[in-house]
Amino acid sequence: MKIEIDKKSGFCFGVVKAIEATDEVLEKEGKIYSLGQIVHNKEEISRLEDKGMITINHDDFREMKNRTVLFRAHGETPESYVTAKQNGHRVIDATCPVVLRLQKKVYRSFQKMQEVNGQLVIFGKRGHAEVVGLMGQIGGRGILIEGEHDLDKLDYTRPIETFSQTTMNVDKIKHLIDEIKKRIKDLSLLKTNNTTCRQVSDRFAHLRSFSKKYDVIVFVGGKNSSNSKMLYEECKQNNPQSYFISNPEELKKEWFDESVHKVGICGGTSTPFWLMENVANTIPEL
Ligand code: SF4
Repeated sequence: MKIEIDKKSGFCFGVVKAIEATDEVLEKEGKIYSLGQIVHNKEEISRLEDKGMITINHDDFREMKNRTVLFRAHGETPESYVTAKQNGHRVIDATCPVVLRLQKKVYRSFQKMQEVNGQLVIFGKRGHAEVVGLMGQIGGRGILIEGEHDLDKLDYTRPIETFSQTTMNVDKIKHLIDEIKKRIKDLSLLKTNNTTCRQVSDRFAHLRSFSKKYDVIVFVGGKNSSNSKMLYEECKQNNPQSYFISNPEELKKEWFDESVHKVGICGGTSTPFWLMENVANTIPEL
């Protein structure tokens, strides 16, 4: 049986940067506080927690004083920077450059939209850290659209400018924009921005072809990673023999019967490569 790991799977560069920064502090100082989960992957979090990382929430962050705090790749609100300064925290800012650019763009566009009584839309998931950070740039005054059911929130006689969470599904965004176009009075009132991250969107096309090359696909991802779930769905649609697991213990012997000659292992942007390697090494033992 041939077992291959997809070379293009695993952490995106934004997550790599955050983890490298954390590892560096842990090696020198033995302790760092991560504001929110550094990555949507339990196994990687455990690895870092064993080295001294402590995950805190925003309430802890406001109460604590003089700590070394990691701002993860998803980015933070301007208030978090103010709190850090007031509480004497040292910030290790690992906001992904792609997210940082988007935050600045959202801020600038909101200023312009205000001049023309326009509406700034963010397509994304309510409560997602990146969305919270984006909304924070404009005092929460953007309009969050999670799906078609939210489109009634918009006034179609006024200008609309759209942005999206970097990890949002491009087909879903396209559908929402098409719906807005149907409703808007004048198309010149609409401006759309493609702000999905290519590190994610390129993987859909790649996994589409990767998953077709194998008898069985084992997708490794965190249960709370929406990016992993979406990429897994792409595999499943192209190869019905695709299985989602979070660690090697979840592998099942019956997936690999005599008819299986080639197994492909892949994962999301929050899946560590070492975990995919562990999975690859466990399959022969089964
Ligand atoms: S998915 Fe893209 S935007 Fe998000 S952290 Fe990774 S590289 Fe940055």
